[in-house]
Amino acid sequence: MELPASPMAIEPRGLDRDSLKRDILEWLVYAVGREVHRATRHDWFAATALAVRDRLVDRWMAAQHREEATDGKRVYYLSLEFLVGRLMANALTNLGIYDTCREALGEFGVDLGSVLEVEPDAALGNGGLGRLAACFLDSMATLGIAGTGYGIRYEYGLFEQQFDRGWQVEYPEDWLKFGNPWEFERPEVAYPIDFYGKVEPGEPGPDGRPKPVWRGSQRVLAVAYDTPVVGWGGATVNTLRLWSAKPVREFDLVPFNSGDYLKSVEDKILSETLSRVLYPNDNTPAGQELRLKQEYFFTSASLQDVLRRHRMHHDGYDDLPEKAALQLNDTHPAIAVPELMRLLIDRHRLDWDRAWAITKGCISYTNHTLMPEALETWPVALLERVLPRHLQIIYEINDRFLKSSKVVAKDPSRLSTLSLIQEGWDRRVRMGPLAFLGSHRVNGVSALHTQLMRETVFRDLNEEFPDRITNKTNGITPRRWLVQANPNLSQLIHNMIGSGWEDDLGRLSALAGRTEDSAFREAFWAVKRRNKAFLAHHIGEIADLRVSGDALFDVQVKRIHEYKRQLLNILHAVALWQEMRDTPDAAWTPRVKIFAGKAAPGYAVAKLIIKLANDVSRVINADAEIRDQLKMVFLPNYNVTLAERIIPAADLSEQISTAGMEASGTGNMKFALNGAITIGTLDGANVEIAERVGADNILIFGLTAAEVAAKRAQGYDPGAVIAADPRLARAIAAIEDGTFSPDDPGRFRPITDALRHSDWFLVAADFAAYWDTQARAAALYRDRAEWTRMAIRNTANVGWFSSDRTVQDYAEEIWGVWPPLARAAE
Ligand SMILES: *Cc1c(COP(=O)(O)O)cnc(C)c1O
Repeated sequence: MELPASPMAIEPRGLDRDSLKRDILEWLVYAVGREVHRATRHDWFAATALAVRDRLVDRWMAAQHREEATDGKRVYYLSLEFLVGRLMANALTNLGIYDTCREALGEFGVDLGSVLEVEPDAALGNGGLGRLAACFLDSMATLGIAGTGYGIRYEYGLFEQQFDRGWQVEYPEDWLKFGNPWEFERPEVAYPIDFYGKVEPGEPGPDGRPKPVWRGSQRVLAVAYDTPVVGWGGATVNTLRLWSAKPVREFDLVPFNSGDYLKSVEDKILSETLSRVLYPNDNTPAGQELRLKQEYFFTSASLQDVLRRHRMHHDGYDDLPEKAALQLNDTHPAIAVPELMRLLIDRHRLDWDRAWAITKGCISYTNHTLMPEALETWPVALLERVLPRHLQIIYEINDRFLKSSKVVAKDPSRLSTLSLIQEGWDRRVRMGPLAFLGSHRVNGVSALHTQLMRETVFRDLNEEFPDRITNKTNGITPRRWLVQANPNLSQLIHNMIGSGWEDDLGRLSALAGRTEDSAFREAFWAVKRRNKAFLAHHIGEIADLRVSGDALFDVQVKRIHEYKRQLLNILHAVALWQEMRDTPDAAWTPRVKIFAGKAAPGYAVAKLIIKLANDVSRVINADAEIRDQLKMVFLPNYNVTLAERIIPAADLSEQISTAGMEASGTGNMKFALNGAITIGTLDGANVEIAERVGADNILIFGLTAAEVAAKRAQGYDPGAVIAADPRLARAIAAIEDGTFSPDDPGRFRPITDALRHSDWFLVAADFAAYWDTQARAAALYRDRAEWTRMAIRNTANVGWFSSDRTVQDYAEEIWGVWPPLARAAE
């Protein structure tokens, strides 16, 4: 791999084994301060990371020189979450020096695998939304798109989950404890961020009207920390810039000199809480003042940074839309709309119309959920107190919009549904519609989700602006989720079709023609079997449970949420166990049910579902009568690293959300790519996965989104469904009679009562179809040749779900940065 020319004063570091070995040793001695014979795994990790980082920096600087010379358009991806996971293996993979590094360390008698294991998992996100942001960074760098990710450098990432007698308990995730070798602190890149105070009329502006000024605010500083993000092949290295809160002054010297030491550091304590911790909510707004301040903090810092960069090379801001695409990952950065207006009008003296044209030209917004309870709104009173100037601007955006609205002109009664302000005793600002109005494009994340967006939450806005909503079906990076997570399958694919598919994943389709090659099928099966043995070993260590790699590995790993219906899967486990006890000698397909996922600490039902899964597991695993034909395990602390271990070992991928409720899913794509067969509803991207792999290679069941809506509208009676299904009735009864909780038979009443009396998530309605489809899965699995054909067709046909494809679509249709200069030059 050759480095692009750049005016570098230093010789780039070599990618060969000897240079790597020499640099690891130098870093070990001179940066870590340790000799070889005394070095621990942490020391080796630190030294290796620094040596690898050098190689990233060479390419990073070259990319920066190239971009500065061309002054092209940049993408700025604003996201409150980046669920990146570990970085070392990814950097080695994308630089193409994984094996070289293993050999270099091997010469010191050090095992690369065990060094990789000490890296903490950077869990600056909750789940799918944060992981999507991380996949997009990888794809932007791979495609040669100049892109920057902006977020918060949380000191504590998503909590660590442990179980105490089956209950989830949360511990702080102190990922920076041993330092972070990948980041560069930039103390000189710091911006003031103001809160509170009030708005007063100031000096008259060019139009003679007094310009508002925001006075009496409290100020903190946002300081940048940069992490290089390398794409496949190493040609482009982009930046993930995370903001950390610092006090404007470390010490307030007046109280310090008068002897009040604690008061003098109070300011420091207050300001740093802003970037202290990630809110552990997934698909539910936290609604806290501190959360609003986090959102504003990172959004304002990022926009100030974008404007500063622009001013270095340009006179004004009218051409900003030709130079900067700002993508909002959900509504968390929606305050960008009034903030960019404020910066352009109050600070840079533009008039409203020019500022509005620039704002809309730059910003676009990705919606991630349709669930009404998950849509962000902020109380007007809170905004007025924390961000008074922004509330004024929001009111003006709203006034101008409602006055010009064609929909309102036609039907004035729709004013209240179109207004940005939700009226009532507790007036609130609707952040989704605010982001919508301030954007030139608004996208959903799967075809079904985008269609439902048009029909439900944004029905009126879509009528007003029929061209604004567009679909961009999510994707995943094949570098992390295949090359790195599944080296066995990657090698097999390489043997069959060579290389090139890693950044052109559609090429996997060449495998589809090989399903009748029995040697290939056997090899494909053997790869899965090896990955399962590896996971079985891990299950033995972590959960102290022996499972057989010959069993069907039936996997549901994702956040615990009622709409994702882990409960449906647990009910299936209970019913299956009961039938196995009825006829233990029948021809059962041995099965291991594997669960993992965190519940938001305040989400009581989700935590009770975890406890139920653990209680059911304990009883089933201890039952000798079913002779190991069913095992069940809930692995603690689901994160990217655990996902990389579990997904390559899955046979069956559980994607069983209530139809219409999962916007896309990306776990579904990772599993299919790794040759698991999906059992799923017609929800989110499952619909498109089914179209691509073909109806015969996926197990679809249950109500459609339209049927779910109709059932809810008609007033559905789960009690009648349960009464008519003896299998379901018996499973629920066992949960209710204390079979799994003899110490507290009433423990699961909140779950079973809701199931019997309301069942909002239609678990009972889909149970029978799910049962039958699980039985089909079990029967199919017994036909190894046929199962493997199906699995191969999954891997072969899901190349479209590469995030390279997704990001290219954004680049062409939303950002206007395609083809990127790096490619055009080729
Ligand atoms: C991919 C991923 C998710 C998203 O999974 P879904 O099944 O789409 O909800 C969540 N967490 C982690 C760690 C992931 O890797």
